[in-house]
Amino acid sequence: MRKRIVAGNWKMNTILPEALALATEVSNLSQKVCECVGVYIAPPFTHLSDISKVINNKRVILTAQNCASEESGAYTGEVSVKMLKSIGVKAVIIGHSERRSYYKEDDQILNKKVKLVLANGLQPIFCCGEVLEERNSGNHFNVVKTQITAGLFDLTVEDFKKVIIAYEPVWAIGTGVTASPAQAQEMHNFIRSLLIEKYGQAVADCCTILYGGSCKASNARELFENEDVDGGLIGGAALKAEEFMGIIEACRCHPDCNCDCNKDDDDGCGCGCDCK
Ligand code: PEP
Repeated sequence: MRKRIVAGNWKMNTILPEALALATEVSNLSQKVCECVGVYIAPPFTHLSDISKVINNKRVILTAQNCASEESGAYTGEVSVKMLKSIGVKAVIIGHSERRSYYKEDDQILNKKVKLVLANGLQPIFCCGEVLEERNSGNHFNVVKTQITAGLFDLTVEDFKKVIIAYEPVWAIGTGVTASPAQAQEMHNFIRSLLIEKYGQAVADCCTILYGGSCKASNARELFENEDVDGGLIGGAALKAEEFMGIIEACRCHPDCNCDCNKDDDDGCGCGCDCK
């Protein structure tokens, strides 16, 4: 059974005191939510080290929003995977659409970053998604296929098993326009079919595929209820602890999960069980 995950991408928001307060609140509230939902937070680089000291690192997975495509050396202004690892970071978002469009990160660079993240024992959250014109022209499946093929499909099976995929239609990011549950499911199912073709059914079945794009507590459940939508990558709504928690609570465990929250807890999560 694949892991369900809700990840918060804070982008370039918060100054340190605000970030510490938000991380502490998320960490405290997360203790009350069933452990079958993984909670990831991706604050700005400058806050990661301090945040790692105030959160429960077992419950909240400290995540970076980006990393350098090189190991180390003369790359002024860059932050390496090893640096991130040394301060307790466990996962890295790779290929967010804002990195692809504003910083011109192409498929080759992103593929390099994914491999570096994996080589250092961290988990990549690999983002893909089409812009509005590509959807309107019916080219969205091709675009996502190209991004996934170029970014991930030269990984070994063992490496691929550690990857989380986030489908984020660019037209839905920060716009208040959310993909419909049917649109999200259709693309997630398409992505999983690509994974089946490349890595086989068992590996594809275990891959967590997140949805991102104007997801909030009020629409999260209808998105996460879909068979192939395993949680969310959340931007704006991750900046308020209560709202973020509402999304995490909407990410109830899979009906096949044997954890206690499917037995005792009518509204899904909240029992603090130990299902992985
Ligand atoms: C994101 O930037 O990854 C994102 C999903 O943003 P938002 O939730 O604000 O649309």
